[in-house]
Amino acid sequence: PGSDTADEAVRTTCDDASICKRFAVSVGYWKDPYIQYFVRQAKERKAPEINRGYYARVQGVQHLVSAFLRQTQCNCQIINLGSGLDTTFWRLKDENLLPLKYFDVDFPMIVARKLYNIKSKPPLSKPIMEVQSGESLLMDSHSMDSTRYSIIGADLRNLPDLEERLKKFNMNPDLPTLLVAECVLVYMSPQQSAALLSWAAKTFPAAMFINYEQINMGDRFGRIMVENLQRRHCDLAGVEACQSLQTQKDRLLLNGWEDATALDMIQVYSSLPQDDVRRIEKLEFLDEKELLEQLLLHYCICWATKDKQQLGLADITF
Ligand code: SAM
Repeated sequence: PGSDTADEAVRTTCDDASICKRFAVSVGYWKDPYIQYFVRQAKERKAPEINRGYYARVQGVQHLVSAFLRQTQCNCQIINLGSGLDTTFWRLKDENLLPLKYFDVDFPMIVARKLYNIKSKPPLSKPIMEVQSGESLLMDSHSMDSTRYSIIGADLRNLPDLEERLKKFNMNPDLPTLLVAECVLVYMSPQQSAALLSWAAKTFPAAMFINYEQINMGDRFGRIMVENLQRRHCDLAGVEACQSLQTQKDRLLLNGWEDATALDMIQVYSSLPQDDVRRIEKLEFLDEKELLEQLLLHYCICWATKDKQQLGLADITF
């Protein structure tokens, strides 16, 4: 595992993501009544192209998550890898789409912050208690286990430890399992992310992996993006794996996944429900159309499935 300062910089990316999401929510791009309890409102406005980029990211990932839940009739588990301060558990609860169990995994320090907010804010703790049955809820400073929701402090580069902690909180490898990595793998070396993907493929016979991250990092705009992140002390150890849609797909297929699809965010944006896209396009005037296109062209959603139980997981798409 990398040095402590490098890990510290990776952890600040989690604030960035949530602050940008909160800002976009405050403008009306999508609804998330829970994110306000995790991060402060941004002091300055975020540019419209940034907000639209987050809209595409959040709606794109949500679309696939909901499709997996419908395909498995919620008889499944979800493991959010590098979940940061993500609020998906609460959204699914409100939409009556909770899986049997939802797991969030991140560095212990991030988990501690998430748990602190949950403990001190009833709008976050109440929904967890509402689906709590019989047994008592376990919570210490770096983990929580409840009936439907677990939060685990672990390093994704240490797979034996990750697996042990998941099992301790009743992760069941025989259930259809959705793994989500939203802007996470790029912070691990290609060897480490390959090991994570192949561990997941080996562990779960019926599963889907969703990965949202950068692509086309070798071109001019991509190199500028990398430089900007590195200037903020982020070690993008995995950037080599983000060359193209094809390298993204190949990485999944080479690490034990059966069926893989990769779409850049221009494709995702144009596959989202267009009435909602028209609504959000009226929220803010966008001067920099080309900049938005460049941004969308440099991120992708790829997903892969393994379907031992023939649940039709490979049919999931936009
Ligand atoms: N997935 C969340 C989202 O999209 O809002 C957070 C994204 S943030 C850019 C990246 C997250 O991955 C951070 O919370 C960071 O702590 C986590 N992360 C990166 N490397 C990790 C590792 N080796 N183990 C655990 N978490 C990691």
